[in-house]
Amino acid sequence: MRMKAAVLHAYNEDMVIQDVAIADPKDREVLVRIAATGVCHSDLSASKGKSRAKLPLILGHEASGVVERVGSAVSKVRVGDRVILSWAPNCGQCFYCQKRFPTLCDVYGFAAGRGGLWDGTSRLEAQSGSIHHYSCVSSFAEYAVVPETGCLPIGEDVPFEVAALVGCAVTTGFGAVVNDARVEPGDTVGVIGVGGVGINAIQAAALSGAEMIVAIDINGDKEGVARSFGATHFLNPNTCDVTDAIKSLNRGRGADSVIECTGRPTAISAAYDCIRPGGIVVSVGIAGREEMVALPASTLPNTQKRVAGSNYGGGIPERDFDRILGLYRAGKFDIDRQIGKRIALEQINDAFRWLEQGVLARTLVCFDH
Ligand SMILES: [Zn+2]
Ligand SMILES: [Zn+2]
Repeated sequence: MRMKAAVLHAYNEDMVIQDVAIADPKDREVLVRIAATGVCHSDLSASKGKSRAKLPLILGHEASGVVERVGSAVSKVRVGDRVILSWAPNCGQCFYCQKRFPTLCDVYGFAAGRGGLWDGTSRLEAQSGSIHHYSCVSSFAEYAVVPETGCLPIGEDVPFEVAALVGCAVTTGFGAVVNDARVEPGDTVGVIGVGGVGINAIQAAALSGAEMIVAIDINGDKEGVARSFGATHFLNPNTCDVTDAIKSLNRGRGADSVIECTGRPTAISAAYDCIRPGGIVVSVGIAGREEMVALPASTLPNTQKRVAGSNYGGGIPERDFDRILGLYRAGKFDIDRQIGKRIALEQINDAFRWLEQGVLARTLVCFDH
């Protein structure tokens, strides 16, 4: 089958909208007609070569759609199902899946490293040759072939735009708070970086009963949106000493947890300074490959502070999709307000530029099949 897709041929250059052949799904694969796909910072980073993704490449990993065709051995979804796509599908069998770290799945790691699907090969081809998959999704295209375990059926009542955002930013922010920081009622929580992930960390902290939720961002314009999603305080590191300010808020003790969403090494060490003894820094933002974090090493044993990495919300993404959609249906988790501009695939390069400029709500590419 042929389709329209946005193909990245060179880092730091615009993607090209072109005709691409997409192969039939193999035994345990599913062909999905993409309905909506968000434009996420990880796509932007990959387009600049920061994740060293193999070229040529179709980006896009935060998506929803409808099952169009299934491979012969597929049992989890049926043609016509509305689904969320996962950018870290898992095999359920390997060392990490057995250890309950499905986002670290070895089989997925092999596939993503090759820029292919489970067997490492691609289903995408242009006249110039094979095109790589991105995180087993590649949703900046009319269709995607994905592993069966990479789609979760969602029923009829969830809008496609909402489902797409649950596929990355929402689950990442929610899980960092619920699975990794394990925020408790009465906690003081800092969230550094009020973006697609940070907003969801703020919401999840509020839902978990945090007493104080301190949003931290160098862009003062983000205060309003941070507060509207549940932040009780807003600090701008350019105009105040964040560590002093947080300590003065809670009797000199420091935050119980800080969710760091920017990936800046200086922000990670600042987060460490902001937490109380026994507290935790959850590192979600992606730093550059060569960057290092400096911490006052002597304080690690006697303060019992912890620094933990969080990938895709640190839990089981498919389970968390369901939990989040349940909260959304109950009116307790606001995803509608996170939806920004809806654009056609042809505007994808503009959407990348808006993201770089710090657009507040998520831009979504929507397909009108
Ligand atoms: Zn993402
Ligand atoms: Zn696995």
